[in-house]
Amino acid sequence: MSNIRFRALETALNRQPVNANLSEEKVSDYFAQNVFNQDQMLKYLSKDAFRAVMDAINHGVKIDRKMAGQVAIGMKEWANSKGATHYTHWFQPLTGLTAEKHDSFFEVSDGKALEHFSAGALVQQEPDASSFPSGGIRNTFEARGYTAWDPSSPAFIMERGGGKTLCIPTIFVSYTGETLDNKTPLLKALTALDKAAVEVCQYFDKDVTKVHATLGVEQEYFLVDTALLNTRPDLAITGRTLFGHAPAKGQQLEDHYFGSIPERVYAFMRDFETESYKLGIPLRTRHNEVAPAQFECAPIFEEVSVAVDHNTLLMDIMDRVARRHKLRVLLHEKPFAGINGSGKHNNWSMATDTGKNLLSPGRTPKTNFMFLTFFVNTIKAVEENADLIRASIASAGNDFRLGANEAPPAIISVFIGSYLSDVLSEVEKRVKKGTMDEQDQQLLKLDIHNKIPDLMLDNTDRNRTSPFAFTGNKFEVRAVGSSANCSSTMTVLNSIVATQLKEFKKEVDALIAGGETKDTAILSVLQKYITSSKRICFEGNNYSDEWAAEAKKRGLNNVKTTPEALDFYVSKKAIKVFTENNVLSEKEIHARHEIELEKYMKKVQIEGRMIGEIAMTHIVPAAVRYQQELAQSIQLSESAGVKEKSLKQQKELLNEMSEHISSIIRLVDEMTEARKKANEIEHMREKAIAYCHKVKPFFDEIREHCDKLELVVSDDLWSLPKYRELLFLR
Ligand code: ADP
Ligand code: MG
Repeated sequence: MSNIRFRALETALNRQPVNANLSEEKVSDYFAQNVFNQDQMLKYLSKDAFRAVMDAINHGVKIDRKMAGQVAIGMKEWANSKGATHYTHWFQPLTGLTAEKHDSFFEVSDGKALEHFSAGALVQQEPDASSFPSGGIRNTFEARGYTAWDPSSPAFIMERGGGKTLCIPTIFVSYTGETLDNKTPLLKALTALDKAAVEVCQYFDKDVTKVHATLGVEQEYFLVDTALLNTRPDLAITGRTLFGHAPAKGQQLEDHYFGSIPERVYAFMRDFETESYKLGIPLRTRHNEVAPAQFECAPIFEEVSVAVDHNTLLMDIMDRVARRHKLRVLLHEKPFAGINGSGKHNNWSMATDTGKNLLSPGRTPKTNFMFLTFFVNTIKAVEENADLIRASIASAGNDFRLGANEAPPAIISVFIGSYLSDVLSEVEKRVKKGTMDEQDQQLLKLDIHNKIPDLMLDNTDRNRTSPFAFTGNKFEVRAVGSSANCSSTMTVLNSIVATQLKEFKKEVDALIAGGETKDTAILSVLQKYITSSKRICFEGNNYSDEWAAEAKKRGLNNVKTTPEALDFYVSKKAIKVFTENNVLSEKEIHARHEIELEKYMKKVQIEGRMIGEIAMTHIVPAAVRYQQELAQSIQLSESAGVKEKSLKQQKELLNEMSEHISSIIRLVDEMTEARKKANEIEHMREKAIAYCHKVKPFFDEIREHCDKLELVVSDDLWSLPKYRELLFLR
């Protein structure tokens, strides 16, 4: 059969697992072998150069040109010893992806060939990067931006197609000093959090001099066979299926979750894990997810900036390795309608240089008190800035999760579990203004530490639906989309907690100055926060209609679409948080707002074009062919004397098909008109809104007719692989 779908199915069915050249070694033998980490630096750098890099990592001290020259020499020697021939400045532009431009170490000097790498090449580069988004900061005709070495993130070697390249993590800035990447504001937010958190820690423990935020990213994804993906132009171009009737069997049997991993997939997982380990990405878990063909992996948590680098690298590695296995990774938030979408849970906490997790309930009253302080302040920060968190997770893809009947909803709320809710109620009730009696002192002796594990277990089912859940020793931000660069959410979260901790310290210090004891002052400020944060705390089912109604009463926003959610980025409050913490300037915030709007608009625009094209060139032609067959058959039957009564249903089917076909053609026309109108709008926010509310509604309408046709048109005429084939092929 010449149908392209059948050929793709045949190819996919005949595939064997690709057994990669996996190392027999233990992971610990090759873990981080391609990373210029401390061990390698000690080996390849002079004492002074090593110290300079460590000072830069630990205290943000600048590295001077001379020292950078020494680091460059050591780094080049290490890279050459590993077989690297090229180097690149590796950065995270606002496309949300990673970028690199390779240069060779190889040079010819006085007719002699040699490998060379200078301080200048290490420290700064000027990528010809005029087409990276800048939100109007950098007009293309003055396209000047540069990448600058970020010594806080270790250099690494990327192996690709047999070649090896030294990758130097960098930040990306314009010549006028504005940041053009995702990394710079994140680093600044982390610095702000460090400073604010250390000051609060000092109330409890004078030994704390540094606090770093920690992050463990759970990454969900789907896998589809390459041949099938290539026969679905929608999947290939937009990352999601724009058409497709739900299969008879979807995820209702829930037989995929934690089930045995198919062999081809297993080979792929082992392969990308090995590549990840070499780059020092500490992957720990892998399993099937709830939906068919959906999987998840998660690393051991790390410092936020390293974890973000590792997650972006991981997405890149997964994509590349999957192709070797003739599979394609779908990182889109909602590749299949009616099947669970994919998220990227951000497990977040804060840790001190004395080794204490600030969100882990302590064993002693002192550490318990410290836990309570950071716990309540985090909740308060979310209560104050829920809208900004909503903005940070907004994207065209994530709208299909947040705006639809799926986890988690667009309403930001916090889950803390019944036990901690009771603890907070106790604090709220019992702390009296101005005094601290025996009973209040007792509060701090609560045995929180030993109780939490059981209680969190009890609550896991409930808290699955929460966008921001406390899970025993960390908060889990569940609303982040699977394809996102988590630096946007992490920049926001760390900034708002920094702002909140500064505010907390100010209030506590004022009470102390007024004569309160330190403990009483802290408790009474916490008490106040507990009361005012109640509206953001929710322990029930976040998917229910009751919650939407209740949230409305509480004054919590429920913004379902991206262009509107992005407004919160440029609210007065957001600008204050970002500028106060020196994370982004007002100009940079507006530029980012513009970039995100444009990204959204373009994604919807591309989907609109694809829908029109596929409907008109795949679906309508298949339906018309079947219509013709049926019409001819009816005619022949009539002339052969088949009774009118026996042909009734066939004629109805013919009518039904014709109606769908003409509806599709009409709707595609109308959608094209709506797009033309939207394209005429200059103002980016208005344009994005037009795409969202005037163009996008056609998608579902057109799809409905197409999906109905899928159920009646002869299978051998249908050219797009069906859901059951995309999802259940092993
Ligand atoms: P679950 O599967 O219940 O969500 P896990 O224990 O598997 O929980 O943890 C999920 C992720 O949370 C992992 O990446 C883990 O490393 C990370 N994590 C654990 N503790 C912390 C912490 N203190 N800070 C940040 N992330 C953490
Ligand atoms: Mg989890």
